[in-house]
Amino acid sequence: MSTLDTLGRPLRDLRISVTDRCNFRCSYCMPREQFGADHAFLPRASLLDFDEIARLARLFADLGVHKIRLTGGEPLVRRDLERLVAKLAPLPGIGDIGLTTNGSLLTREKAERLHDAGLGRITVSLDALDDTTFQAINGAGFPVEQVLAGIEHAAAAGLGPIKVNMVVRRGANDRAIEAMADHFRGSGRILRFIEYMDVGNANGWQRDEVVSADEILERIDARWPIERAPPNYPGEVARRWRYRDGAGEIGMIASITKPFCGDCTRARLSAEGSLYTCLFASRGVDLRGMLREGAADETIAERLAAVWHGRRDRYSELRSEAAAAGRRKIEMSYIGG
Ligand code: SAM
Ligand code: SF4
Ligand code: SF4
Repeated sequence: MSTLDTLGRPLRDLRISVTDRCNFRCSYCMPREQFGADHAFLPRASLLDFDEIARLARLFADLGVHKIRLTGGEPLVRRDLERLVAKLAPLPGIGDIGLTTNGSLLTREKAERLHDAGLGRITVSLDALDDTTFQAINGAGFPVEQVLAGIEHAAAAGLGPIKVNMVVRRGANDRAIEAMADHFRGSGRILRFIEYMDVGNANGWQRDEVVSADEILERIDARWPIERAPPNYPGEVARRWRYRDGAGEIGMIASITKPFCGDCTRARLSAEGSLYTCLFASRGVDLRGMLREGAADETIAERLAAVWHGRRDRYSELRSEAAAAGRRKIEMSYIGG
């Protein structure tokens, strides 16, 4: 079944944020000045439990969702996440379950448990290979070595091909572009460069801190010639390039300089059960209330379909206008990246 929004975009993917908490304080996402010791995270009782999440996921699958990605905050700080994966994996229509993590809690055992529960793929975020740069960004003094170990554990558990996300912010880690490319060339990991985005309000985003995908591509091509590779499937967010010498591929997520709203088939479920139809939304639709008030499946499904039918979001294509209007947006750690 295909559920289309006002711009004819089908509902295909669901990103589920399982927590708004994180053990990192990345400067571009949860800067410590805003997310300090006194920050009020969601109380436990307001988070959806795993059965509630799985029920909503089943209803989303009935409406056409076939890919699920677990995110956060840091999804691995949610205890026993593999129990959720085990509930989602058998849902009819769900062909693919992925996880985006900062890798800090990815031990060998955890990776194996996630894989055994039915997790298919994993993306690990890593912004530099030297501790000085990485620790200045992650705000938690977390060492690079341990994230690299997490990547290896995931690969060994069969969670590959592993993708590595690098958010590039001028002045913070743009000097690390070549070192990252060099490290992951030929490793079987797919490095993806992400343009620094104006998500939320906390990071104080400035346009001149964005390093464009074109600039990154030029720098890489100058060292290791690359060529365009075709998308794996229509509407793939990351555009692909491969090294001409056969050392693998890289991806570019250019949401600032080359917005891809026209192909955006993603819905987002926050940890407390609100539905968002855009990463840059300012308001969500509460589903937890319906779940806890005993609404029938059909009633919830009708609500989901109605929200998607009414969807008109294309923030990235309208970025300058929306920013000029001073719209308040939801933080990335809350809505899930
Ligand atoms: N904590 C997990 C992690 O870092 O992978 C999952 C959640 S995080 C919000 C999801 C992704 O969003 C990460 O790859 C992160 O680097 C990216 N991200 C966060 N803030 C961003 C920003 N302002 N611009 C671009 N990407 C961002
Ligand atoms: Fe945490 Fe991920 Fe945000 Fe970094 S990007 S603060 S690891 S949620
Ligand atoms: Fe999708 Fe919104 Fe991002 Fe556009 S700005 S690609 S609609 S999440």
